[in-house]
Amino acid sequence: MIPGAPGRAPGAAPGLPPARIRTHVLVPVTFADGFATTARVFTFEGLVDGREHLALGLGDRSAAPGPGACDRDPTPTRLHSECLTGDVFGSGRCDCGAQLRESVERLDASGGFLLYLRQEGRGIGLYPKLDAYVLQDAGLDTYEANVALGYGEDERDYTVAAQMLGALGVSRIALLSNNPDKAEQLRALGVTVARRVPTALHLSDANAHYLATKAVRGAHTLDLHVQP
Ligand SMILES: [Zn+2]
Repeated sequence: MIPGAPGRAPGAAPGLPPARIRTHVLVPVTFADGFATTARVFTFEGLVDGREHLALGLGDRSAAPGPGACDRDPTPTRLHSECLTGDVFGSGRCDCGAQLRESVERLDASGGFLLYLRQEGRGIGLYPKLDAYVLQDAGLDTYEANVALGYGEDERDYTVAAQMLGALGVSRIALLSNNPDKAEQLRALGVTVARRVPTALHLSDANAHYLATKAVRGAHTLDLHVQP
């Protein structure tokens, strides 16, 4: 407990409303290619947007929380934004499903947390994301399409991620991500990002344009040999 801050979780940043672990339970997970493991799935109370975000504890983090359960520093962590079409249906329009699959295996090996954030379509929602696909098929890129629909290029907000890490007792992370904006937002929210660890490139004919756009417009560190 932080002196002078009664009730605050050990890893919670100053100024953030505290969240608490609501429940946690073991869930066996299996991917389409057969990779399987067991995750401890955490739910939370007090998240600022009221949505049902999840944390998956993997590897040694699938142990029940408690003294000695969270002593790796920094904690390997991935923030994954929900993508129904990519995560569940294996859509080739983006690389979300492949990123999720890779992250779970890496975090299972190292021990760490995957935060599964319910902000579909860069925060605009599922139906608008599919509307944006229609515009992309007409020639707009993934960012232009969001703007044409009246949304920001990227409306994701990581406040709940910082709250969840606080509730899990994690204040220093090794962030598994190619996205510098995630690290910046987390730092601004009081999370210490000790380092950013790049993820692999999941390139296919179907997602090549999408990935090139992320690299150029979203400043993602992807080695696609594209001209900015
Ligand atoms: Zn996706």
